[in-house]
Amino acid sequence: MNLHDHWIDGVSVAPADGARLERVSPADGRVIAAAALGTAGDLDAAVVAARRAFDTGPWTTLPGSQRGEVLLRLAALIEENLEALAFLEAEEAGKPLAVGRSELQFGIELIRYAASLASGLSGRLLSESGPEAMGLVLQQPLGVIGVICPWNYPAVCLLQKLPFALAAGCAVVAKPSELTAGTTVQIARLAREAGLPDGQFNVVIGTGEVVGEAMTAHPGIDKISFTGSGRIGRRIAAKCGESLKRYSLELGGKGANIIFADADLDAAVEGAFQGFTINKGEECCAGSRILVEESIAGDFTARLLARCAAARLGGVRDEEAEIGPLIHEQHLQKVLSFIEGARADGARLLCGGERLTGGDYAKGTYLPPTIFTDVRPDMTLFREEVFGPVAALMTFRTLDEAVQIANDTTYGLANGIWTGSLDKAMAMTRRLQSGMLYVNTYLELVPQLPFGGMKSSGMGHENGPEGLQEFLTTRSAFIRLRTAF
Ligand code: NAD
Repeated sequence: MNLHDHWIDGVSVAPADGARLERVSPADGRVIAAAALGTAGDLDAAVVAARRAFDTGPWTTLPGSQRGEVLLRLAALIEENLEALAFLEAEEAGKPLAVGRSELQFGIELIRYAASLASGLSGRLLSESGPEAMGLVLQQPLGVIGVICPWNYPAVCLLQKLPFALAAGCAVVAKPSELTAGTTVQIARLAREAGLPDGQFNVVIGTGEVVGEAMTAHPGIDKISFTGSGRIGRRIAAKCGESLKRYSLELGGKGANIIFADADLDAAVEGAFQGFTINKGEECCAGSRILVEESIAGDFTARLLARCAAARLGGVRDEEAEIGPLIHEQHLQKVLSFIEGARADGARLLCGGERLTGGDYAKGTYLPPTIFTDVRPDMTLFREEVFGPVAALMTFRTLDEAVQIANDTTYGLANGIWTGSLDKAMAMTRRLQSGMLYVNTYLELVPQLPFGGMKSSGMGHENGPEGLQEFLTTRSAFIRLRTAF
């Protein structure tokens, strides 16, 4: 069993009042970890360390290229420890090991990309005022960043924020989900080994009600960078509004994966399957509304159902598995209640719908791919994020109709299109309301492209140059000189 403690000012710290949460494996119910349950006092100690590091430490004033070197060493250390970190991530979050590996690999790419941005920080010189004066525009690190992450992608959500904040020169206090804190704490250890000064990156494990609330309210924190549900995102926005703290929000989604009749059908079937089952559907960008052009709906549906029937579910130790168990029993029950609700609303179940109970599956929280048809836009299944491997399959006749159905949601995180026509792809790119759009692929993330939602899927961006900008503040100086320059 792993013991996860806080990481404060470069050392491991036990929770002040000794409280811990036992984490059981979603695959088989074994106790796998005991995580510190922090107090507001633990959080305060971390903020004090981060504040000192930011206000007096060397990191902020180092040339960006030197910050980049530390980040590159961190990436190399994560690579050296990839197998152990991937196992930890996969076991705690309920993923097959291969999925854990690929997430950590993407995390390494994110760090390397952020390192490349560190040396490119620049400002502007304004010489409009004549030769005896000049204006300077400076891009400076924002300060101490409070990072709050969910349980579905513990390492990736952290690494879409942390290396960018560090590249900008900020200090960080992170609060991982208490269910999946393992990789965050190990990455903090490795960051120290890579040469990150003490206090620059701190981790306080705990509940949202205690540590999350204390972080949002803490005057020593300059910005909250949050990934999680819309409900908590709204609360954080309101609290940050009260104290005029900055914030960015990465929230949920209800993506449409749209298949036109001229698409490569094999690729589209696989893309639609992956789109709603990836990370067992515990995926903010999930393509959980599959819209297929009516003329190919029969063929497409038959192939998609065959693909779902062939999917293998399994835990971290099952190298063949594609789909892991849901995060915990309570969440499985919530997803099952969405399924019951869809049935009661009149949607027709095409596959899945029941938890797996045979053999070893009985010990875990496994739900097979579940697809409903006869779904109407007024149904809860169409409107709300289920956060499990559950999709609504609908048909459309025209491009306009596909756009109308896809945009008929308060969310705007990701959508996908499958077509052989460049014209259709470009028309949809312009008209679909989502922060991210995938054409003839789904959820292929690259560090260089900004990631973020429109509408109620969030505000702000991660990754890309925009991801660095989130951790910088703009200042200006007007300088009058004695002599012309
Ligand atoms: P959640 O909102 O319940 O929790 C997210 C984090 O916020 C956790 O660390 C939690 O402890 C903390 N928290 C809870 N209450 C808080 C409070 N009052 N103050 C401060 N922090 C608090 O979300 P979850 O159930 O862990 O994750 C699932 C949600 O995250 C889904 O809606 C999913 O779509 C979203 N998500 C979005 C993205 C994205 O990039 N857009 C990525 C992953 C997950």
